[in-house]
Amino acid sequence: MPHLVLSGIEKHYGRFVALDRLSLSVEKGEFLCFLGPSGCGKTTLLRIIAGLDRQSAGKILIGGRDCSAAPPEQRDFGIVFQSYALFPNLTVAKNVGYGVRDRASAEARVKAMLELVGLPEQGDKFPGQLSGGQQQRIALARALAPAPSLLLLDEPLSALDARVRVALRRQIRALHDRLGLTTIMVTHDQEEALTMADRIVVMNQGRIEQEGRPYDIYAHPASLFIAGFVGAMNAFAATAAGQGRLRLGDLELAGPSAHAAGTAVTVCWRPEDMVIGAEENGLKARIEGIEFLGPYHRMLLRARELESPFAADVSANLARDLGLACGRELQVGVPAGALHVFAEHPN
Ligand code: ATP
Repeated sequence: MPHLVLSGIEKHYGRFVALDRLSLSVEKGEFLCFLGPSGCGKTTLLRIIAGLDRQSAGKILIGGRDCSAAPPEQRDFGIVFQSYALFPNLTVAKNVGYGVRDRASAEARVKAMLELVGLPEQGDKFPGQLSGGQQQRIALARALAPAPSLLLLDEPLSALDARVRVALRRQIRALHDRLGLTTIMVTHDQEEALTMADRIVVMNQGRIEQEGRPYDIYAHPASLFIAGFVGAMNAFAATAAGQGRLRLGDLELAGPSAHAAGTAVTVCWRPEDMVIGAEENGLKARIEGIEFLGPYHRMLLRARELESPFAADVSANLARDLGLACGRELQVGVPAGALHVFAEHPN
């Protein structure tokens, strides 16, 4: 039986539709991410699952039980917010124990939770005496202290610096696995979703645009919106020319297009799929800019046949061996199988 089933969830604010007939099933033990741009409705959906906001229409089943109208305390979840939301005037231990109903076991439970998040010595401090990353681990301990089976995370890492964020990502995922939780995390950070989730639900304007395993979302974006939102993508207006051929300005490309000849399409490919020296879908381009990104470089290339520049990634080692520098000309190509073709256009 799924842990959570949402069917036909709607949320209206006056005439504005924040969530539009959204249905979703979450399996027990799954780590799910709601990913999407600002305003797409992810937080609204999480708050509706928690019972902190009421849906305008639709049904929520938790563990098979109809919780559509149940108050938050009857929904068996722990929640962590971006802002930590700790009580500043209570000690860390009091914060962690706040939701533990059985007072007799509270002290042992708090101790166990502080050990679980790796902060066993911090119980007597106040939240203001801890770093952001430590405070978020305390918020996590507080959410887990009543032993919920569902963990809800609302952008829990957004306020933290990059190194702490990566460490905490791993810690949260490890806790999820170890405790056998079902976790739903809201994020607008694709890297967070790709690294942590079993399944990603990409939202756009109150609807689910695509759901799937991280690899599938990345490798097989279902729409131009997903292609542009998850990972970097070059995108050009083109015309289907029949039999898997595409006309892109003065170029003719071989691609996976099944569209009828003459259909206006957008053809996309990832910078990392470009191959230096390749003849397949190849062209000559000039290097206009190079961004140093640590292990690889992202080159901004311009070709005579194309209206605007495009990006190609190259490993730092290869860039050095080939002596790549601004102003140089080079041959690049992209395998036909790496092209994504959509019969739609950017707004
Ligand atoms: P962000 O990442 O910026 O938090 P989000 O995807 O979580 O974005 P929500 O906070 O769920 O987005 O908001 C979805 C939409 O609903 C937004 O357009 C927002 O302005 C609107 N909205 C949210 N709460 C209210 C409210 N109380 N009254 C009116 N509109 C609201």
